[in-house]
Amino acid sequence: MVLAGSIARFFTYKKCMDWPVRRMEAMKLTTIGFWGAYPSKNEATSCYLLEEKGKKIVIDCGSGALAKLQNHIELTDLDAVIISHIHPDHIADLYCLEYAMLIQQQLGNRQKPLDVFIYTENVSHLPFSYPDIFQVKQIKEDSQLQIGTLSFSFHNNLHEIPCCAVKITDQAGKSFVYSGDTGYTESFVQFARNVDTLLIECSFFLEQKGLVKGHLSTVEVAEIAERADVKHVILTHFPHYGSIEQLVKEVQALSSKSVDYAKETLSITI
Ligand SMILES: [Zn+2]
Ligand SMILES: [Zn+2]
Repeated sequence: MVLAGSIARFFTYKKCMDWPVRRMEAMKLTTIGFWGAYPSKNEATSCYLLEEKGKKIVIDCGSGALAKLQNHIELTDLDAVIISHIHPDHIADLYCLEYAMLIQQQLGNRQKPLDVFIYTENVSHLPFSYPDIFQVKQIKEDSQLQIGTLSFSFHNNLHEIPCCAVKITDQAGKSFVYSGDTGYTESFVQFARNVDTLLIECSFFLEQKGLVKGHLSTVEVAEIAERADVKHVILTHFPHYGSIEQLVKEVQALSSKSVDYAKETLSITI
């Protein structure tokens, strides 16, 4: 009995020691907004929060995103923003975030400027007003970013305006790709190859395949997941008709991968 008790205590101790270390190291992804085009009632278009070792990074900042984001973090705690392209459903609230940073600096709640990285042809054409507070920088396909211990690389998508997919890799080698908006391309399959989590736009149902260039249907999402051999798929950027459950079912029917979908309560470690 004494021995059994000691063993139990050892494993309890080991579990307590191991668990927080793993949690501290893992990337945490929270899906803040997940609609295409415009936000549904009380929700938001594309916006994803990535946290790792105290760094807080927002990827895309669509319509309705700022209100939702504040359910998870203080805006003053943000370290960087990355924008996949300048369609309004991916950038709309970024302009309000600039005001938020201005006002919070004036109130003394934040001292440093916010780094904002945008994939577009010319950031100087965008209507930002406070370069000392909001440091907007252009990213290209060959850009390499390091934010904290995370490495960022980019892929030029098939879309009606310049748009990128983003790959994030941590020091432990865990990887995450966010597709942005894109049509099916072989180069995107290669970009997403073997990643742990693929957060991928899923704008159309099976029967709509090929209807709109520059977006993905369920059949193409499933094909990318299979051919890239990713571990876990999260669907996002939803249409405002049909059901999200149907999108998931269609991808699951054509793929052997674990398939989830973005929602306000979805928060995973990678
Ligand atoms: Zn979009
Ligand atoms: Zn778009």
